[in-house]
Amino acid sequence: MYTFENGLRKVAPYFSEFSVRIKQRWEGKTLVELQTTEFGESAAVVEQAIRHHRLFIETNQGKKKHTQQTIKGWDSLATRPLDRFDVIHSLQHRHEPSVGDLPWTVIHEDDDLLVISKPPGIPTHPTGNYHYNSITEIVKFDRQLANVWPTHRLDKATAGVLILAKNQKAGKYYQQLFSENKQLVTKEYFARVKGEFPQGTHLVNCPIFSVMSTQGHIRPVNADELMANSSTIFTRVSYDPTSNQSVVKCQPVTGKTHQIRIHLRNVGFPIANDYLYHPVNEGFINHEVNKLSCSIELELYRRLFRVHPEFGQLQSADKLPEALQKGTIDLYSITNWYHDSALRSEVERLKSLRSQSFEKLKADYDTKCLECGKQLLTTDRDLSDQAIWLHAFKYHYQGNPNICFEDDIPSWAKPNFIE
Ligand SMILES: [Zn+2]
Repeated sequence: MYTFENGLRKVAPYFSEFSVRIKQRWEGKTLVELQTTEFGESAAVVEQAIRHHRLFIETNQGKKKHTQQTIKGWDSLATRPLDRFDVIHSLQHRHEPSVGDLPWTVIHEDDDLLVISKPPGIPTHPTGNYHYNSITEIVKFDRQLANVWPTHRLDKATAGVLILAKNQKAGKYYQQLFSENKQLVTKEYFARVKGEFPQGTHLVNCPIFSVMSTQGHIRPVNADELMANSSTIFTRVSYDPTSNQSVVKCQPVTGKTHQIRIHLRNVGFPIANDYLYHPVNEGFINHEVNKLSCSIELELYRRLFRVHPEFGQLQSADKLPEALQKGTIDLYSITNWYHDSALRSEVERLKSLRSQSFEKLKADYDTKCLECGKQLLTTDRDLSDQAIWLHAFKYHYQGNPNICFEDDIPSWAKPNFIE
């Protein structure tokens, strides 16, 4: 299933079958209309799939006193409107993005758990276009296991301690234990940041949001009720004057997506090689998009800090209980999100930059798959930008002394590290 080339783990394209019932809003559309409008396929690709019987309909599903019928082929399906008793069957040719060919290692193993060190740049579990190139699938394959269950997750870019369960019962037990007793879970990360981080231990409490470059809206979408209690504790480990970088221990108290990266950026100490939140390397893919997106976000955060200065500052760690009590804020009104035309046009510029950059990528690697006709983007690009200096070093569940796992300290967090 996997091949290895140029430091990459590749998955050969493969067919996978799935079926979907008709949703109400799809009724009356043709298959081509549905696939192009709802799923963003090109009309030519859809036509080819129908002609090759990789996309077809079974009708009268669940309809009483009617026999089911399979309808295949372009002549029968080109203009036929979808019926609510149809089921669409699709044999899709999947092209997975490559990931780095990096080893995972065992930190601990018993009958129920397999605790591993996850390499950076690989998603925790199948998501989006990644299926076999996710760490749970890679572990299953390497160890010939029928299944593994992640009990928590790590962002794709983040490396470090990941606790997998080896059977469903343990999976369910630990998922529930960790999610229902968050206050008993202590996580420690190492980060290597730009600048001289102040000595000692500090609190950052600041709401987490981001601007989605594809749609041009704020995530999460309910930013009128944005949770204001997202907190991380940071402790300086070391400072290297030569590189002007610091190693910082990070303890996220809440667990929002990209929380550590965003908190460090917001207080002026971004992770030094973070392509999203400190985009300085022009060679990285989507650099211009990331740069604009980051500057719009920082402008929004600046508006927030004018009203709530404490969100943009390192605070005393004693303030944690108080910070966790904070309720919600209305980010839309604080940032004037809907009414500021200058801001709106920057967001529009971000959207168009994003689609231009995608078009350019397609033009650069204009090849079509002979099997399915899809336009292919390269999967062979350098993936060094996918690994950032953020490492999940320790996972400790205080309710059970046996659940305390530590990884090795990454090389970039040790003294005398030279890039
Ligand atoms: Zn294909």
